[in-house]
Amino acid sequence: MISYLGKNINRSRYLINLTLQTRSIHGHRYKDESLGVFIPPIYQTAIFEQPGFTRKSDREVDLKYSREENLTVRAVRALEKILTMLEEGEDTLCFSSGMAAISTIYYSVLKKNDKIVLPAESYGTTLQLGEKLRGFGVEVKISWPDTEDIIESIDKHTKLVLIETITNPTLRVFDIPEILNVCKENGALLIVDNTFATPYLYKPFKDGVEVVVHSLTKYLSGHNDVVGGVIISRKERILELWDWRRMLGTILPPFEAFLIIRGLKTFELRMEKHCKNAQAMAEYLEDHPKIKEVIYPGLPTSKYYRLASRLFKKRFGGVVSFRIRGGEEEVKKLMNSLKIIKPAPSLGGAESILTYPIISAASTIPKDVREKLGITEDLLRFSLGLEDLEDLIQDIDSALNSI
Ligand code: PLP
Repeated sequence: MISYLGKNINRSRYLINLTLQTRSIHGHRYKDESLGVFIPPIYQTAIFEQPGFTRKSDREVDLKYSREENLTVRAVRALEKILTMLEEGEDTLCFSSGMAAISTIYYSVLKKNDKIVLPAESYGTTLQLGEKLRGFGVEVKISWPDTEDIIESIDKHTKLVLIETITNPTLRVFDIPEILNVCKENGALLIVDNTFATPYLYKPFKDGVEVVVHSLTKYLSGHNDVVGGVIISRKERILELWDWRRMLGTILPPFEAFLIIRGLKTFELRMEKHCKNAQAMAEYLEDHPKIKEVIYPGLPTSKYYRLASRLFKKRFGGVVSFRIRGGEEEVKKLMNSLKIIKPAPSLGGAESILTYPIISAASTIPKDVREKLGITEDLLRFSLGLEDLEDLIQDIDSALNSI
């Protein structure tokens, strides 16, 4: 029990009932009673003193070496606690990048002759790494990225299925509960990469998903200044993954953990603005004479609008993709005319970013597959930042008018 405003409150119920925004600020529950410090500090150290020479390799023992554990990441459970609360999972591990998280889970789950299913529109490096698993005797099935084809690809040999809540860059949405049912029938583990949606839009655990991953580099850190990754899952799985993280050395460093804890304090406020900016920008671009097509699951004309409305409850994320009337030359002119919006890779930060997928994340997808997916030379991906909408419209409008 804790006491709050003179009332006794059951602590676990109190924490469960906190809103997303309050969890993102207080979820770490850190306090150094001796100093009265309640901001998690950076423990910039590689080693910890071990007076009794105790050395066991499990997660709950004393700290000894920062490749295994670091106070900022776990022992005060600061960042991992916040992330567990935001996704409403059981336990969490942080990694040095989204790809470090994904590769650690590939290592931990897959063995020779197992099968993995990946949709053809997945983050380019997730696919590339997936393809490399063939060299280790894993069967890799790249399925067409829609719910039916993913389901058809799953069979009794399937060990792992990895899907993204909203795909990149053509923003497809899958029926996650349906895919999960088929995974369960076949004994396959479904991993949901919730990077684009974030727990602001969708919480996969509420639908029974067992493993959620994120690139922390994006919305969760939110400031385009840090690289990180996370896995949230059941306690036993996290314990097993902890051992893999220790062996692979894929832990998130302490300074990055500190920055992410700081960035998370404004998580819900930022997401609200990203989503509002994106919805308004998608509607604005739809009527622009230089635009051929706008892709955004929040547009009623989108093929995914109904499914996305069911899963995401009327919030559709901060990324809009669009096709211009023109090709590579026009894209170059447009990019060179931008004043505020940055031509760059990545997404989810305060700065608005315009990305040319054929030269960034999708550049590793073979050209014929890319074109079938609609990742063509007229396609751009727009991560709406936190600037005022009017300034963004002015910037994109004048850049579009330069082509
Ligand atoms: N998953 C998704 C959906 C991504 O967009 C990215 C990176 O862009 C990753 C995973 C990999 O994350 P990181 O770049 O932090 O390794």
